[in-house]
Amino acid sequence: MRLTGSTPDRPLPSGEDIFATVAELYPICRSITGDGVRRTLDIIGRLIDVERHEVPTGTRLFDWIVPDEWNIREAHVTCVSSGERVIDFARSNLHLLGYSVQVRARLPLAALKEHLFSDPAHPDATPYRTSYYREAWGFCLPHRALLALPEGEYDVVVDSTLAPGSLTYGEYLHRGSGEAEVLLSAHICHPSLANDNCSGLALLAHFAATLRGRRTRYSYRFLFAPGTIGALAWLSANEPRLGRIRHGLVVSCVGDGGGPVYKKSRRGDAMIDRVMRHVLAAAGPDAEVMDFFPYGYDERQFCSPGFDLPVGLFQRSLFGRFPEYHSSADDLDLVRPEHLARSYALLAEAVDILERDRRPLNLFPKGEPQLGRRGLYAPTGGDPEAPARNMARLWVLNLADGRHSLLDMAERAGMRFTEIADAAETLARAGLIDDQASSSAREGQPRSRSDIIIGSKGQGIASVGSS
Ligand code: ZN
Repeated sequence: MRLTGSTPDRPLPSGEDIFATVAELYPICRSITGDGVRRTLDIIGRLIDVERHEVPTGTRLFDWIVPDEWNIREAHVTCVSSGERVIDFARSNLHLLGYSVQVRARLPLAALKEHLFSDPAHPDATPYRTSYYREAWGFCLPHRALLALPEGEYDVVVDSTLAPGSLTYGEYLHRGSGEAEVLLSAHICHPSLANDNCSGLALLAHFAATLRGRRTRYSYRFLFAPGTIGALAWLSANEPRLGRIRHGLVVSCVGDGGGPVYKKSRRGDAMIDRVMRHVLAAAGPDAEVMDFFPYGYDERQFCSPGFDLPVGLFQRSLFGRFPEYHSSADDLDLVRPEHLARSYALLAEAVDILERDRRPLNLFPKGEPQLGRRGLYAPTGGDPEAPARNMARLWVLNLADGRHSLLDMAERAGMRFTEIADAAETLARAGLIDDQASSSAREGQPRSRSDIIIGSKGQGIASVGSS
């Protein structure tokens, strides 16, 4: 039986709901460590019961070491002659080079300029820069503003703390009927950048909240961790259990109107790669599936040769390819509720395929079973969808030999997975196929057919089979 998406106690999030979370996360000054990450997890923690991990400074994580914890109180540059505060962290946290060490100094403009960063290619935007693993201080500003700084002396204040503490990351597990897991990960280390990655954090938090109370075949593990070092902390803590991760997506930059883009896992032929290729095939002319390359977000760590997890990267615009990327132009105007809703729907569709895919068995394989007698072969007059529905049933019956999964059938038939999966449900109800025989993921036997829906209001609905 198919339920509608929302349940009275678990309404589906709208694009506006997700956007509201993006807007709440946006002003916080985050970095790879520090209170900004904790405050971000506080906000996510209002949606889901996120578990926090604190990894002490100095902890070795493979070839990396957790650095000192960084916290910032104030930072500004003041022109001595005019008394004007020409750069101020209080106006935008992007103005400060991330991980800047404490400094109080008076400098001439020429010396100050060695600590100023701008982007001549985007002269009106403040670029986002960090110096995590090399002690430094600096300020970022629009190139036009840098050129306008008058000669003279400047007072510089960076009131930061860089001291032993810990690295913080958040984790949330939605338990399915089996131990096999889907990893969904978003980086939590960027300051005021809305698309990269307040959008990913908000999307996954709302998706996790929607799963709560719903039965799924897979368990869903959500990771909110600082880029690179946070992913390594999680991998290090979970190395013996990584075999449970059967599919995964890194999610970032999902609030703009570009793409969608999917970057394949290192394996290139993982189930998640096929699923995303199928989802994006119907996602419009700008949808793009790319081969793996060892640059980007934490798929770099998950797909390093020592782990080689089946994890791909899901984005709208590819990082680095949209002009607002890593600058103050990546703000709350770039991210729109309708784009967030569409990204949510695409993610839900992928999860829907993971949950519903299975290898059914035709119980009447000798000749075609007589569909008309069972009311399963619709006359082709009248209902415009009847021919496609008939074809989907014929494909399922023909390929339900126990070797083909529903996704195999959809690809072979050139049809959408949903059409094939719906046909299989109908045929199973009529007793013509056994769709409980196996699942393509071999993750235990589904108990009932799709009774879970995770869609987004007004953006189509994806159903999720339970087991
Ligand atoms: Zn980034």
